[in-house]
Amino acid sequence: MTETAVPYPAGSSDPSQYVRAREKGSRDVTYPDAPEPLAVPVYDNHAHLEIEDGEVGLSLDEQLSRAGDVGVIGVVQAGGDIESSRWSAWAAASHPRVLAAVAIHPNEAPAYAAAGRLDEAIAVIDELASQPRVRAIGETGLDFFRTDEDGRPAQFASFEAHIALAKKHGIAMQIHDRDAHDAVLETLERVGAPERTVFHCFSGDAEMAEVARERGYYLSFAGNVTFKNAQNLRDALEVTPRERILVETDAPFLTPTPHRGRPNAPYLIPVTVRFMAAKLGVDLDELCAQLAANTLEVYGPFEG
Ligand SMILES: [Zn+2]
Repeated sequence: MTETAVPYPAGSSDPSQYVRAREKGSRDVTYPDAPEPLAVPVYDNHAHLEIEDGEVGLSLDEQLSRAGDVGVIGVVQAGGDIESSRWSAWAAASHPRVLAAVAIHPNEAPAYAAAGRLDEAIAVIDELASQPRVRAIGETGLDFFRTDEDGRPAQFASFEAHIALAKKHGIAMQIHDRDAHDAVLETLERVGAPERTVFHCFSGDAEMAEVARERGYYLSFAGNVTFKNAQNLRDALEVTPRERILVETDAPFLTPTPHRGRPNAPYLIPVTVRFMAAKLGVDLDELCAQLAANTLEVYGPFEG
């Protein structure tokens, strides 16, 4: 969430108008070709479709139709501040293939706190969480990589408030954990985790995955499971019970190998799923069926 946020057009508070643009830098910003479609459909469990990437950004409709063409039949759209959470709730309310997660991201919490607005921001999340297609609080958690000591009290306060919201609304929680494994696990144990707790873009190792297994947490694997230097993630994948594995893009980030650095999108989920099936030595269709069932177990049905 270091991306440049483009505010609503002047005088508008229409959440559908909200977009932010990803830095192009010197990356290859062309979208990769579509992979071969999956025979058994799956869902993208975590994406940021309000963030435009590519030479030309893809509209939400285009994102969903490209995804559908390769067997990715739904997306959980995650927010990280007031505006993107409102956009997420709007997207879910307007599209049968989208469900929303809403939250103040751990790297945003200190800024809201410094402005004296953290309570107000959490109240907005609470209100959004009562909408029927908002099915998770997320992404929330702790990030000791981008936030230094000064910002941590606000991060902890925000994380605990978000845990309470997930329990209050009886919905899932998507955790962002960067360089904060022990503190996240300790916090969940101390205050009590929501019934369905997901580590989005799981970044731990097999040892941490064992703890998650004992406690019944879900681990959501992103495109970085395919990266050469990510043996820890593949080890974690192998020890995670099949009924606790999810898959996500974290689009537009974390594009799987061999497209690393290019824009990521839900239609690229098949690349990651095929890689996971090969690593686990399981049948692709069986893995897809399991992943889809796990998504519905955590977030509930997309239709209706
Ligand atoms: Zn994310």
